[in-house]
Amino acid sequence: MTTTPPAPEVQPEAGAPAIQVLDLHKSFGENEVLKGINFHVDHAEVVCVIGPSGSGKSTLLRCVNRLEEPTSGKIIVEGIDITDEETDLDKVRTRIGMVFQQFNLFPHMTVLRNLTIAQQRAKKRDRAEAEAIARENLEKVGMADREDAFPAHLSGGQQQRVAIARALSMNPDMMLFDEPTSALDPELVGDVLDVMKALAGSGMTMMVVTHEMGFAREVGDKLVFMDGGVIVEEGDPVEVLANPQHQRTQSFLSKVL
Ligand code: ADP
Ligand code: MG
Repeated sequence: MTTTPPAPEVQPEAGAPAIQVLDLHKSFGENEVLKGINFHVDHAEVVCVIGPSGSGKSTLLRCVNRLEEPTSGKIIVEGIDITDEETDLDKVRTRIGMVFQQFNLFPHMTVLRNLTIAQQRAKKRDRAEAEAIARENLEKVGMADREDAFPAHLSGGQQQRVAIARALSMNPDMMLFDEPTSALDPELVGDVLDVMKALAGSGMTMMVVTHEMGFAREVGDKLVFMDGGVIVEEGDPVEVLANPQHQRTQSFLSKVL
């Protein structure tokens, strides 16, 4: 006979963290990729997620904005249960900005159009307003002078900064980054990290999957180490990196540091 554990407590909206993940499980067929994840992200907090390839980091981020449907467990974003079938996912997604390793800009559109199209469609902004907001955000990422360029004519680092500006143009409450610098030539990484650092400094709530330990140490408020679909260890980035408590964390860090 099996017993079902009691459903996790859900906090009320007032004073709720930005993101709460409660006993999250995700399987693809027989493959259980997330095996009971619990954590939260506070407002204006930067949480960095590290771990070996295949440990479930991308799946976790994709569950948080419901690009993947969790198998069980709860995810509460700004007090809204996004795992509840009644929740309007389109509305939730416009509140969460996502930046991927492979920029995912529309290749046949100019930089400016890349930033205005979703604003006009999902936010119902008129063109002039959308362009004004786009230009503000291009300025923030240092790409104001390239609004007429097509993505193919930009470096990877420039494309990624445009992708960040595009996400910001939707005025998200939080930003999720999935290895945003992993596809970049080493000399282009710094510009993207600088933009992310400034964003963190402006008070944006951020979840960042990254292999950039320097960024995690300097900018992160919390570091989460995942392995095999579980959180093995989490804590202050400076402490976790200097003094990992678990053998699996030590072994991973000895390979990447
Ligand atoms: P990470 O980002 O830490 O490298 P992922 O979350 O991408 O890990 O993948 C974890 C595991 O989930 C891998 O074994 C991967 O093959 C599997 N996986 C991820 N997405 C899918 C999918 N859409 N269908 C089937 N398996 C998947
Ligand atoms: Mg990944």
